[in-house]
Amino acid sequence: MNFLEEKILQDGVIKEGNILKVDSFLNHQIDIDIMRQMAYEFKRRFRGIEVNKVLTIEASGIAIATLLGNLYDVPVVFAKKSETANSTDDKYVAKAYSFTHKKMNNVFVSKPYLNATDKVLIVDDFLADGEAAHALIDLIHQAGATVAGIGIAIEKGQQKGGATLRGEGYRVESIAIVESMDWQTQTIKFREQKALPIQNPNLHI
Ligand code: 5GP
Repeated sequence: MNFLEEKILQDGVIKEGNILKVDSFLNHQIDIDIMRQMAYEFKRRFRGIEVNKVLTIEASGIAIATLLGNLYDVPVVFAKKSETANSTDDKYVAKAYSFTHKKMNNVFVSKPYLNATDKVLIVDDFLADGEAAHALIDLIHQAGATVAGIGIAIEKGQQKGGATLRGEGYRVESIAIVESMDWQTQTIKFREQKALPIQNPNLHI
């Protein structure tokens, strides 16, 4: 079991409706050590792939994206979900249905922050039906940029997002893949993944 799977078993709470609550380390309080380990793990898994920008969507992806951007030493951009009155920039806009809020959102990035020369690594906290990831891919394509890969903290493998994105040819790396979970017994099964090598971050860069 890897560090994230262990953390999920220790601190995650399964809610009715196929929701995994991980507020204590990812969605409300942020465990910096876990974020740091995730960043190193993404860097290891995407080794050899050129990345000059990290893109996520507000809010919970930002913490992971920031630590990953720090490792690559590249800018981190987060797509916004609401218009700010003080932004007059032209924007790329895409639509995403929110699994947790059950509504359609416009997500956008101001045009100066995505360019045709960008090789963009997408990161996010969860992958469920792939709505958020597809909206980010749409924004990247509107800018004429390239998707370098998709790094996900927790993929819910019982939903269609991972299979769809992989079927479309994207390299998706999820640190923990939930195969099934049961809110009544509070049990989670993870999909077997290749064992991670020693988790000393300094050895992976
Ligand atoms: P998707 O867009 O892939 O359908 O859903 C992913 C987005 O929905 C993530 O950005 C995440 O914010 C939210 N999400 C989906 N499922 C869960 C879940 O089980 N727990 C939490 N905390 N967020 C989820």
